[in-house]
Amino acid sequence: MIEFKHITKTYGDTDVIKDLNLTINSGELFVLVGPSGSGKTTSVKMINQLIQQTSGDIEIDGQNVQTTDLRQLRLGMGYVLQNIALFPNLTIQENIGIQLEELKVPKEKRVARARDLLTQVGLDPDSYAGRMPDELSGGEQQRIGIIRALATNPNIILMDEAFSALDPLSRKQLQDIVLDLHAKATNNLTIVFVTHDMREALRLGSRIAVLQDGVIQQVGTQEEILNNPANAFVANFFKNEQETQTATVGKVIIQGYGHRVTTTDTP
Ligand code: ADP
Repeated sequence: MIEFKHITKTYGDTDVIKDLNLTINSGELFVLVGPSGSGKTTSVKMINQLIQQTSGDIEIDGQNVQTTDLRQLRLGMGYVLQNIALFPNLTIQENIGIQLEELKVPKEKRVARARDLLTQVGLDPDSYAGRMPDELSGGEQQRIGIIRALATNPNIILMDEAFSALDPLSRKQLQDIVLDLHAKATNNLTIVFVTHDMREALRLGSRIAVLQDGVIQQVGTQEEILNNPANAFVANFFKNEQETQTATVGKVIIQGYGHRVTTTDTP
């Protein structure tokens, strides 16, 4: 469980995060969504302490991140960014195993783990393991970024606009991979996924927090946010989606979100 307790972050005179309180449960695929500049990256980087809060506490399973050994904290947490930087002079297999090497896991096990992870994201290890990063497409490189984050079997993965630079098809494929990896994870994997894209948020999030100017406007499931927006900001942010729903006569069908297809009869 990740808890933000009265978190404020100030740059100069500006509070970019304002008394943020939020609980992300273990095993959730939790999405933080909001427009550019609303404080999403700042919030997520405080979880692995790449940014330190001005006041308030963040606790992971009751342990304050500020008093946790940083190396320990970050080893327990995968981190995937928009443009993941693979080491250009290492093979794909070596890139995936880099943290395992740091942990002194023997080569044989690193190779086996890399091959298993490649298979899990639909990349044939015989073809991909020995390639160099520049021999992969952007979408394939992001897949490697995800599995590199998974290599040490962390309980938490932070993903910050991880697919925002991809074309729509690759993006959808990567979203499917995240849903699949999360569903199949055996370690109660928590994913915190940051995006500015409300469709991506609705497709992925089992719960969604909507951020505006450093303040959480609503936290809820897809249905709660679409059917019962907390205020005009939330309603407007998800407006196109609500119009799609109400345009469907007789039945409201929230469709196209992977495995979570919901059908409700209207009166
Ligand atoms: P988002 O991820 O939602 O786009 P950010 O968390 O990156 O938003 O930024 C939130 C706000 O904090 C923005 O107004 C941004 O300009 C400001 N900000 C971020 N980093 C810094 C910094 N190092 N110094 C000053 N302001 C910053």
